[in-house]
Amino acid sequence: MSATACIYQVAVPTPLQRTFDYLAAPEMATLTPGTRVRVSFGRREMVGVIMGQSDRSELPRERLKPIGRALDAQPVLAPSLLNLLIWASDYYHHPIGEVIHTALPVRLREGAAAVIVGMKFWTLTSKGQALDRESLKRAPAQKRIFEALAAAPQGLDAAQLAAISPRWGAAIKALQAKEWVSSHQRESQLFSNAGPTRAPELYPAQQSAIAAITQELAGFHPYLLHGVTGSGKTEVYLGVIDRVLAQGKQALVLVPEIGLTPQVVDRFTRRFPVPVVVLHSGLNDQERLNAWLAARDGRARIVIGTRSAVFAPLKHPGLIVVDEEHDASYKQQDGFRYSARDVALMRASREAVPIVLGSATPSLESLKRAREGGYTLLELPDRTGGAGMPEVRLLDMRRLKPSDGLSLPLREAIAARLQRQEQSLLFLNRRGFAPVWMCHDCGWLAPCRRCDAQLTLHQKRGKLLCHHCGAEQEITARCPTCQGENLHPLGEGTERVEGALEKFFPQARIVRIDRDSTRRKGALEEKLQRVHAGDADILVGTQMLSKGHDFPNVTLVGILNADQGLYGADFRSGERLFQMIMQVSGRAGRADKPGEVLIQTWHPDHPVFAALQRHDFHGFADFALTERSETGYPPYSHLALLRAESPRPGMALKFLADARALGLGLPPAPVVQILEPAPAPMERRAGRYRAQLLVQSPARAPLHGFLGRWLAQLAEAPLAKKVRWSLDVDPLDMY
Ligand SMILES: [Zn+2]
Ligand SMILES: [Zn+2]
Repeated sequence: MSATACIYQVAVPTPLQRTFDYLAAPEMATLTPGTRVRVSFGRREMVGVIMGQSDRSELPRERLKPIGRALDAQPVLAPSLLNLLIWASDYYHHPIGEVIHTALPVRLREGAAAVIVGMKFWTLTSKGQALDRESLKRAPAQKRIFEALAAAPQGLDAAQLAAISPRWGAAIKALQAKEWVSSHQRESQLFSNAGPTRAPELYPAQQSAIAAITQELAGFHPYLLHGVTGSGKTEVYLGVIDRVLAQGKQALVLVPEIGLTPQVVDRFTRRFPVPVVVLHSGLNDQERLNAWLAARDGRARIVIGTRSAVFAPLKHPGLIVVDEEHDASYKQQDGFRYSARDVALMRASREAVPIVLGSATPSLESLKRAREGGYTLLELPDRTGGAGMPEVRLLDMRRLKPSDGLSLPLREAIAARLQRQEQSLLFLNRRGFAPVWMCHDCGWLAPCRRCDAQLTLHQKRGKLLCHHCGAEQEITARCPTCQGENLHPLGEGTERVEGALEKFFPQARIVRIDRDSTRRKGALEEKLQRVHAGDADILVGTQMLSKGHDFPNVTLVGILNADQGLYGADFRSGERLFQMIMQVSGRAGRADKPGEVLIQTWHPDHPVFAALQRHDFHGFADFALTERSETGYPPYSHLALLRAESPRPGMALKFLADARALGLGLPPAPVVQILEPAPAPMERRAGRYRAQLLVQSPARAPLHGFLGRWLAQLAEAPLAKKVRWSLDVDPLDMY
C-alpha cells in the first residue's frame, strides 16, 4: 500500500463506543460517508460503514489494516439519516456501529448489494383452479401446498411454502410439471390501488385539525392530536397525507407493534393511488430490503411501519405520523434502547417536516410539552357518528363475591348481552389458568427455580410455566414441603375465565385472545375475523385486545383485575392502568348501540377510577402530573438507569456501588443526582441477580454531559467485565 493511501473512520458493530481507522488504497480515495465496506476486525470479517476520512490516525500507519473492498457505489445511508444515527448514538450513549447496524435491513448488514431483487412466488393456474383437490389425496405434501395456494390468490413465496411443508420443493415441482401451478417474479410488496376510495364526510373537529396542520407544511412543527377513542384520528392523518402527497412528498407512519393489522394498512392503501410499503416483522429479509429501497428511492410514497421504521430512508420526507404515541412498543427494551417516538421528533426537526403524535391517552411527557406550548395541541373531543362515550360503572369487589373472577353483576350484564345478541369483551391482563399453584395445607407456592417469581398454571398444556424466563415444569401433585396433596390454583388468568364462562353460559360462543391462543401464525387474524363476522358472543383476552382493533358489536366491556397496577412498583403504573382501561373501554359501543364498561375493583375510591367514569383524560393528567411534580419523576426530571446483572449474588450491586462512587468522584454536575443502587423489583430472573442505579436531573444537558464522562470511566471499572451492564436513557420500565 502506498504512503498516500488515505485513512477512513469506519463504524463496525461492536460494543465499543468509537469508530476504527482503516487504510484505503488510492483508488478508494473517493468513498463518502454512509458507504459500506468490508473490513477485517480482530479475526473476523465485518461489514462497516464509512463515517469520515482523515490523513492521520492515532495509530502508526503500518499498524492500520486495509479496507477489503467497498460494497456500494453510492452510500446506502444519506447524510441526513447518517447524522440522525450519530445523534441517536450520542443521545442514547450506544455505540455508533451497533446503532447503524440496527437501522439497516438485515441483508445490508450481511453485505448484500443494495438492489431490489425480484422474488419468486407461485400461484395456481386456471387448470389448477379447476382441479378437484381430492385427486391429490395420495400425495399429501402436494395436497397441502395446493390447498394453501388455493387459499392465497396473490400467491405464496418460498418461505411461506416452506412453512406449510418441509417437502415443498419436490411438491411444487410435481405440481408445476402437471401445469397446475406456475411461478412468477415480484419485486416487493409494493401495494398500490388504482381505484381509491373517497374520503368520508369529516366532522368539524377533524376538519379544523387537518386545516391547522396543513396550513404550513414546510418546516418542523410538532402536533399532539388528542382524540378520544373512536374520534377518527386516522381520517385526520389521511387528510394531511393527501396534501403531503399533492406536494410530491412522502409520509412516514409509525404504528404500535400490535396495531399494524391488515385493516389498518388497508385504510391507507385504499385511499390513495400511490405505492405504499409496509415494514413489519412478517417480511422476509429480501422483502424488507426491497421495501426499504423503495422508500429510499422515493417510489414508495407512504411508508408504514413499527418501531424500527423510524430509520426508514426517505428521498422526499414530507410528514411523520406517530399513531398511539403513548404505546410502550415504541421503546426498544434491549440493546440499542431508543424510543422511536423521540427519534421521530428529532428526525422531523432535522428534516424540517411536521410531525403528528396521535393518541386517545397521550403520555404525560407529550401532554406536558403540549400544554407548555412546545407542541400544538389539537383535540378531537367527540366520537364520530354521534356515538356517545360508554357508561362506566364500578363494581365494589369488597362487597361482591366473585366466582372464578366474575362477579354477579358482571355475569348478569353478560347474560343480558347474550339475550340481545350483542357481544361482550372481558379484559384480564394475565394469561394462563392461574398465576399461583398453592398448597392449602402449608402455604407453599410453586416457585420458579431461576426467578424470584411464582409459576403460572397452564391447565390446557398441563404445565407450570414461568412468565419471566420461560421455564417449564410438570404440575406437582404433592407439596414438596409438607408432602400434602391439597394443591390448588389461586387467582385467575384468561384460561380460567374462559372455562368459567363456558360453565356459566354453555350456549355462548367464546373466543380467547392472548399470547397462548394466538401462537400459531394466522390464529389472531382468524379469531378477529370470527368476532367481526358475528361468530362470537364473548371475547376474553389480555392487552392484545386493547390496541388497534375495533369491535363495533361489543356493547359490554368488563375489566376483571383493574387493581393490578394501581399500586405498582413503577411510577408509571397508574398512567399505564388509566391508558389501558381507557383504550379497552373505547372498543365498546357505537351510535345505535351505546356501550357499558364495568370495572371490578377493590379500591373504588381511587382517583384513577373517578377520572375514568367521567372519561376525563385531562382530569387524570392533572392529578398524575401533580403527583409527578411532587415526586420529581418525569416529565419533571430526566432519567437514566444503569442496570447490571450477574449470576453471582451481590456482584451487580457491588458494580453499581463502584459506579456510583466513580460518578461522585467526577467534577460535580450540581443538578445531577446519582441515587443509591438497589436490587431490581424482581431481583433474580433467569438465574441472574439484577440491580439498578438511577441517575436523575431536572435538565437534560447536564445529565448527558455527565453520562458521557461517566461511561468513559465505567468501562474501566474493575467489575465492568465481570457483570453484564447497560445504560437506559429515558427508561420506560424500571424493572
Ligand atoms: Zn404443603
Ligand atoms: Zn423463571
